[in-house]
Amino acid sequence: MQGDASDTVLVVGAGPAGLSAAASIAAAGFRPVVVEKEDVLGGAPILSGYAKLVPSGEWAKDAIGRMVARVEQDASTTVFKGTKVTGFEGEPGDFTATLSNGEHVKAGAAILATGFTHFDSINKPEWGFGTYEDVLTTTQMEQMVAGGKIFCPSDGRVPERVAILLCVGSRDRQIGREWCSKICCTVSTNLAMEIKELSPTTDVFIYYMDIRTFGLYEDKFYWKSQEEFKTKFVKARIAEVTTSGDGRLLVKGEDTLVKRPIVIPFDIVVHAIGMDPNEDNPEISKVFGVGLEKHGFIDRAEFYTSTCGTTRRGVFAAGSCYAPETIDDSISQGHAAAARAIAELHALARKKAG
Ligand SMILES: Cc1cc2nc3c(=O)[nH]c(=O)nc-3n(C[C@H](O)[C@H](O)[C@H](O)COP(=O)(O)OP(=O)(O)OC[C@H]3O[C@@H](n4cnc5c(N)ncnc54)[C@H](O)[C@@H]3O)c2cc1C
Ligand code: SF4
Repeated sequence: MQGDASDTVLVVGAGPAGLSAAASIAAAGFRPVVVEKEDVLGGAPILSGYAKLVPSGEWAKDAIGRMVARVEQDASTTVFKGTKVTGFEGEPGDFTATLSNGEHVKAGAAILATGFTHFDSINKPEWGFGTYEDVLTTTQMEQMVAGGKIFCPSDGRVPERVAILLCVGSRDRQIGREWCSKICCTVSTNLAMEIKELSPTTDVFIYYMDIRTFGLYEDKFYWKSQEEFKTKFVKARIAEVTTSGDGRLLVKGEDTLVKRPIVIPFDIVVHAIGMDPNEDNPEISKVFGVGLEKHGFIDRAEFYTSTCGTTRRGVFAAGSCYAPETIDDSISQGHAAAARAIAELHALARKKAG
């Protein structure tokens, strides 16, 4: 049996949210026990090989790598990799978690930082992913950028034109995904600049319904991409992606500004994939006894007086397990969830002491 319930907090998931929660718990003199199902820590930015992050411009492996090192080097933190929580019994101040490796962990509170699942573009077959080799997702294109060379996977040629299609698997009621994934407009305007930097002869087009580079992202990404890097923005409704016979891809749709059909040939088409609820959420909901909201993300207890709460007392949550979220906000929520868990342990200790 690991841990002492009075000073231990279980953190499930080691992406940006879980790593920041663990760091705060340790800094406050409590013991985090981190349970991560993959064999490496860092969450989506590391597991999916993101290139330079927005808005910092830092490589994901460096920025998130620092967060991983801070947790792995902390003597009070226990980390289980390649492990899941299979049982969770007890009450606030005295929970026992059963792990998939057979170990048991005592903890006074738990934080779910289990993140999201990338939208699988196969679910949007008319846009060519899985059919044509040169149709990629943003994560695949980021991996190409990280490799330092832009080329068509089918034959290695330098692309003359790249199209980035926004809102793939988001804001699409036909496939049951009504939400905006919040970060993909900014990620895509940044990706367009990275492609142009590596391959100056390549023209990048962004097909959009709306551009949501919210807050301070507007000038640094939207305007810069357009004005300095000459990214072409096309407001359109895409019908399908096909081929032209000479091996190029054809993006067919309607230009919704001039209300005319458009067909433009491209060499690479990139799907700006959205953020789905974590595919494990039904299992997480059952094991931890927490509710899910109607789309399948973790449900919040209440917005204003129960920050980072779930529907079960003593079980908190942070980051993109709640909804599509940025890294910065996931990190902040991780720290906030840690503060809530620690406050709960203090309150229980005071009550016990009479
Ligand atoms: C293509 C793309 C590019 C992006 N680029 C940026 C960017 O440049 N800047 C930015 O701010 N945001 C970016 N984002 C958003 C970013 O990925 C999220 O904000 C961030 O990953 C959320 O962190 P998290 O810790 O909440 O979740 P995650 O990163 O998803 O981490 C969750 C962790 O929990 C683990 N886990 C899941 N289920 C379980 C389980 N049952 N048991 C144990 N462990 C589990 C996972 O393996 C993972 O390690 C991008 C998103 C996409 C789709
Ligand atoms: S952030 Fe932009 S690309 Fe992503 S779902 Fe929202 S509007 Fe679409």
